[in-house]
Amino acid sequence: MTFQEIKDQDQSYILHTYGRVDASLVKGRNARAWDTEGKEYIDFTSGIGVNALGYSDPAWASAVAAQAAEIQHLCNYYYSPQNTSLAEELCKASGMAKAFFCNSGAEANECAVKIARKYGEKRGAYQIVTLNNSFHGRTLTTLAATGQAAFHQDFLPLTEGFVYAEGNDLSSVEALLDSTVCAVLIETVQGEGGVIPMEEAFVQGLRKLCTEQDVLLMIDEVQTGVGRTGSFYSYQGYGVEPDVATTAKGLAGGLPIGACLVNEKLKDILQPGMQGSTFGGNPVVCAGAREVVRRVKDPAFLREVQEKGAYLKESLEALPQVEYVRGKGLMLGVKLKTGDAHDVLVRCAEEGLLVLTAKELVRFLPPLTITKEEIDKGLAVFEKVLGEL
Ligand SMILES: *Cc1c(COP(=O)(O)O)cnc(C)c1O
Repeated sequence: MTFQEIKDQDQSYILHTYGRVDASLVKGRNARAWDTEGKEYIDFTSGIGVNALGYSDPAWASAVAAQAAEIQHLCNYYYSPQNTSLAEELCKASGMAKAFFCNSGAEANECAVKIARKYGEKRGAYQIVTLNNSFHGRTLTTLAATGQAAFHQDFLPLTEGFVYAEGNDLSSVEALLDSTVCAVLIETVQGEGGVIPMEEAFVQGLRKLCTEQDVLLMIDEVQTGVGRTGSFYSYQGYGVEPDVATTAKGLAGGLPIGACLVNEKLKDILQPGMQGSTFGGNPVVCAGAREVVRRVKDPAFLREVQEKGAYLKESLEALPQVEYVRGKGLMLGVKLKTGDAHDVLVRCAEEGLLVLTAKELVRFLPPLTITKEEIDKGLAVFEKVLGEL
């Protein structure tokens, strides 16, 4: 099919929920991709932090293909060694006690909300504190958790029981912690909100506060997790242990997965019949995730993420059109002195570089396996595009 035929088909048959860019990618290897016309792109997106090992990593692809040829799915009434092994490997890498598997970030957060409600049930505590400018998903409950009115307005009423505090302002959280609150849910780096890192003192202070008040600390690691910020989960870089952590995007390297991880205290909170997911923890998806976890948890791999992130950040900071760069590891946002971030995204795509935006920032989430050569090639395109501003 030609690009125009694909675009026409999209316009005829796909609900117009995405503002798409004129490119159709049909092949990829690590941080390079090719479109229908054979044009090459450097990828600084990994599909919004999903392709942790880049496009079509050979070991990942063969693990997935081998499992598909063996047994592709079984219902959750039965045991699957891929499913149970992934849970063990994930608990060991994260320091958490048990996992519930589902299919997406929103679904993982839904599970976290149910756990928080169950935890507070006996004492009538049902409210959850989240942060202004956060993003937790698109279902009606996770939209309610998302502290951005612009996402709410067309779909009211949303699920009740969410109140909003300010990020990096411990007293604003403290002010909301009355006897009706069962949990606090945060991102350590607000991704969609504009790549805004929470300070160490805030996250550590929150841990202390939640423990004192018997309120769960729940960390949404959907974007920050699985090596993205340079530690396996970002909370490990902050030196805190949450009660609940949710993870999705990069976890299965490009296959749909979500997981809600709980600590020792919560490992028996959900009983048979309280939560479920038809596809959750499917063996094919778990086979892909096991390859991701096996590679990413290696300290040498994580050190490389930190080094490449630091190199990318410094290189971007050196560009005269850049006002500042913020983020952690390979999760970076660039504020430009002039020019619109979306226009820059479109121009980058035309020149062969895929980038994202987050609010008024250009956002970079390259595959964790990106090479220095691929970074340099992408930077050269970015520099050229910024030179036109
Ligand atoms: C993307 C994202 C979600 C939603 O994940 P889906 O898989 O799209 O449902 C939730 N939380 C954060 C922090 C995210 O970045």
